[in-house]
Amino acid sequence: MSDGKKIQQALQNVHLNLSMLTTLDERLARLRRRREAAAKKVDQAKAQLDQVLAEKNALTLAAREKEKEMAAAEAAINRRKEQLSEAKTNKEFQSLKEQISLDQEKNNQLADETIEAIAAAEEFEEQVTAAKEEVTKAEKTAETFRASCDEEAKVIEDDTAQVQIDLKKAVENLPGDFRTLYDRAIEYHGRGGLVPVIDRGYCGHCRREIPPQFVVNLLKGEPYLCQTCGYLLFIPDDFYKP
Ligand SMILES: [Zn+2]
Repeated sequence: MSDGKKIQQALQNVHLNLSMLTTLDERLARLRRRREAAAKKVDQAKAQLDQVLAEKNALTLAAREKEKEMAAAEAAINRRKEQLSEAKTNKEFQSLKEQISLDQEKNNQLADETIEAIAAAEEFEEQVTAAKEEVTKAEKTAETFRASCDEEAKVIEDDTAQVQIDLKKAVENLPGDFRTLYDRAIEYHGRGGLVPVIDRGYCGHCRREIPPQFVVNLLKGEPYLCQTCGYLLFIPDDFYKP
């Protein structure tokens, strides 16, 4: 194999490891996003439960208020009944009786309302139970997910560590002048700073056409930076394929 081709293969190897690192990073990021989403569902279920509990409290409070109101009305009627036995005139007696009758009617209405309020509060308990179940379910899912995520993340992190070792070795295999250019390209452009020549003569990053002479030089083992984007180029294996 010519020196030029060896260099191109060394660069291709570096590129392969860089791509693998990017893929691993993306997988890890996806995993984290999914994990966060599962945790968020727990928060949402808890917020829903809080809301339902607040509504239930309001209903219970309303029912208690009605009960108090009813007790007060009942006491008022009893007071009037006592007054009735002490009525001095027939007119006073009649007036009290009418008042008691009106109060009784009002009190019946109040009793109905109280029963309704208590029933509403009790029925709402079902929604509280359902909301609590949702929280438990979400927590369980998040917990299971967290465990499997941690396991997968560990594998990805181990793979990443290995690829980083491989990358270091691959970079060490580059001739000195290539290494300097490589370091600079990565420093300026990140992991994507090394790109293959595509379609038999175009920059794999910005797609600018590479003058044929430089493609020939690359094949001979001379480094070449894209004149437009400044990325370091290499000739990949499939360049030779028809
Ligand atoms: Zn370019």
